[in-house]
Amino acid sequence: MPEHETPKQLPLVMEEPRGRKKPPRHLADLTPAERKELLEEKGLPGFRAKQLSTHYFARLVDDPEQMTDLPAGQRAELVGALLPDLMTPLRTMEADKGTTVKTLWRLFDGALVESVLMRYPDRATMCVSSQAGCGMACPFCATGQGGLQRNMSTAEIVEQVLAGARALARGEVPGGPTRVSNVVFMGMGEPLANYKAVVGAVRRLTDPTPDGLGMSARGVTVSTVGLVPRIKQLATEGVPVTLALSLHAPDDELRNELVPINTRFSVAETVEAAFEYAATTKRRVSIEYAMMRGINDQAWRADLLADVLYATGADWGWVHVNLIPLNPTPGSKWTASDPADEREFVRRLEARGIPTTVRDTRGSDIDGACGQLAATE
Ligand code: SAH
Repeated sequence: MPEHETPKQLPLVMEEPRGRKKPPRHLADLTPAERKELLEEKGLPGFRAKQLSTHYFARLVDDPEQMTDLPAGQRAELVGALLPDLMTPLRTMEADKGTTVKTLWRLFDGALVESVLMRYPDRATMCVSSQAGCGMACPFCATGQGGLQRNMSTAEIVEQVLAGARALARGEVPGGPTRVSNVVFMGMGEPLANYKAVVGAVRRLTDPTPDGLGMSARGVTVSTVGLVPRIKQLATEGVPVTLALSLHAPDDELRNELVPINTRFSVAETVEAAFEYAATTKRRVSIEYAMMRGINDQAWRADLLADVLYATGADWGWVHVNLIPLNPTPGSKWTASDPADEREFVRRLEARGIPTTVRDTRGSDIDGACGQLAATE
């Protein structure tokens, strides 16, 4: 392609238009000190911030009536200041005997996002959205087709997890009361294109209760198309979350098509950044690879993928590969791989010593499987 016809450049960080109304400010947007300050600015007692945080993060209470340690006369004002309603559930869909629950949320400005709760015998995972829509334009992804509407706030991201935590704590999901053990940023949006809010959300999730939800950082996975400067920055945050890199092709020619941001950051650069992330955080990186029949599932591409992962010069287990059976989006020209091709792909990676798993496709019948989150409302 001639120089002057370089592929369209995707802005790294989506700037919010000036003057747009912001989501309501919520205690999950703020540090404990900021929560206290905010109450004091409003002429309310600062020490109440900790009580409100305890209700929200430790007791998982959202009904002001149950916050009986707050003076009845001040309760509405306190709750209004730090615990405003952020989103309304429009619709929920269940699968797997009620252990997979997808929720469609309407945000304060009408934007729609989805989250999915997946309960397994040994863990409960919340898959959350970080943007309404997405600007990364991956052609096989349902969300990628509609473009970006806006970034979500930290509290809007956190609230999706809290909604799941409340449902689990109240025993609303079969299997008895439990906690959210894992959060994956694999819903709508590119988390690293909404960097500040996402890192804020990670801090709220991992801060000890009652400042935050008290989760382990190893239970949190941030999935990205590979915004290289942001991967490098994430490694310096001191919250060693698991990084998932949506690679989907080991060669630039194909990846430019499947993950258009690749025209800015090549496969080699992106994999190198993921390797550095693993080296800094001591967390094994997950390489996501959606298997598409006849597109990226050839045996030679498995070999090339192994070469690319070894090109970092690392011989220790810094990485594993997670193959995702493609969920075809409506009107998509792509379908899932032939099972025999998938098995051969796995065999070749394993023969090279690369741990490989095939993701289960929970909730695909309610369009809750990864990449299928498209609000049809
Ligand atoms: N923007 C982030 C998070 C998006 S969704 C990212 O790209 O990583 C999480 C995963 O689902 C990504 O690996 C994404 O490529 C994958 N995905 C998207 N659409 C899919 C589809 N139709 N079938 C299977 N996986 C898909």
